[in-house]
Amino acid sequence: MKTATRHFDTKFLGRSISIIPEIYNAGTVRLVLLALAFILAVMIFAGCGSSETGSDQTYEQNLVQLNEYTGQQLENWDLKSKKRFEEVLTGEPAAFTGAKIWTGTGDIISNAALIVQDGRILDLFSLDIRSLPDGIQTYDLSGMYMIPGLINAHGHVGMADGLQTGSQIHSEDNVRKQLALYARYGITTVVSLGDEPPHAFQVREQHDPRQPGMARLYMSGPVLSPDSPEQAYRDVETLKEKRPDWVKIRVDDQLGRRTAMPPDIFGAVIDASHQHDLPVASHMVALDISKELLRKGTNLLAHSIRDEPVDDELVALMMDRDICITPTLTREVSVYIYAERPDFFDDPFFLEYADHAVLEMLQQPDIQKRYTGEAADFYRKALPLAMENMLKLHNSGIRVAMGTDSGPPARFQGYFEHMEMEMMHDAGMSPADVLTSATRNAAECMDIGDNLGTLEPGKWADFILLEDDPLQDIRNLRSLQKIYIAGAKMDR
Ligand SMILES: [Zn+2]
Repeated sequence: MKTATRHFDTKFLGRSISIIPEIYNAGTVRLVLLALAFILAVMIFAGCGSSETGSDQTYEQNLVQLNEYTGQQLENWDLKSKKRFEEVLTGEPAAFTGAKIWTGTGDIISNAALIVQDGRILDLFSLDIRSLPDGIQTYDLSGMYMIPGLINAHGHVGMADGLQTGSQIHSEDNVRKQLALYARYGITTVVSLGDEPPHAFQVREQHDPRQPGMARLYMSGPVLSPDSPEQAYRDVETLKEKRPDWVKIRVDDQLGRRTAMPPDIFGAVIDASHQHDLPVASHMVALDISKELLRKGTNLLAHSIRDEPVDDELVALMMDRDICITPTLTREVSVYIYAERPDFFDDPFFLEYADHAVLEMLQQPDIQKRYTGEAADFYRKALPLAMENMLKLHNSGIRVAMGTDSGPPARFQGYFEHMEMEMMHDAGMSPADVLTSATRNAAECMDIGDNLGTLEPGKWADFILLEDDPLQDIRNLRSLQKIYIAGAKMDR
């Protein structure tokens, strides 16, 4: 049997072990054992297949073949850890050649060869320095620009469908559809920060990285809003059973309309989460609340600071534990922009995947009116401050992770990430800094940097191909041609 280099994601390995006794009944365990036997059979079969066909078997053919072998059964598994998928991923190495690669580590490799095997990067180097291994399958990407797949560090999946929210629109299909939409725009990973339907957890468990066309999903589950420290500990206990990647809280007085969660309660959520090694992302608006969240140990500021200019004390608090911020500038835009017909309703890059019925609705006067009033005015006025604050933090050495808060109604997944990156550039970040924010920083800040965010040996082969150089102009990200997730291609 063929042995391949494998890199196991221990986080998921831990998950797959812990889940069995906790939530699966005996019948399911039997199914799991059957599934394991099936995987073993597939591995043996796939191994025989590749030894018979030798190097004639292309990487993509192997992927297709494996999909055919597993086919329908994959759809029906109810316990599929990502580790196990790595085990069934087999294939001959393939070389993607000739592109200019911006790796996300600070390196640029011209006339590059990126070698991929089993969905992971095996090697990358310039063909000006080394030549390819004999007989390797190659895919010519001459003249193209390659960058790591983009990562949205703050999105939401499955909570809305068009302008509708609520349990009637919750489904696995809706979650998949949205992850596919992100991927079409080159967003190959989404960290969904809260209030996903339970279906999203199902999709996360079932995600098969060999089937391209869907962004990777990390998520936090229900946003916690306990009313006492004791309740905070209980809520985290309950939430941890779902094995969230993050815990999400909101600490916001909603422009004075409510009382914000007090420090003893959010402190308890953070403390309880840290006891289970769960990082905490905090929704916030205000400078003073942000400082208190940082003192209590939050692991992410999930929005911009929008009430006051950031100051040295905040920078010091963030620096102290190397805490990142996701600016979500497009979130502010979405609160007021639909009061009138926005210009981007004529943008072909948007219209390509837009739901025209939703656009019609957003142009009806009664709907437009919802985007006026006190909150709309506040966030419209707050946006320039949010952009200034983002740049100040960035210039102080704080890592900014590209995040949009897309996914709720009229926050258009995929397109808003591009709008966000253009706004970050408008705020004063260089194209290279914006790209770093949407790749390496987003991955490292969201605790998935071991596997994602840069193009380096051992990491997932998630990358996108552009016709034009994004370092020259961030809007060149719109020249997106192809998207690869775990080395498997989807067209834009
Ligand atoms: Zn959010």
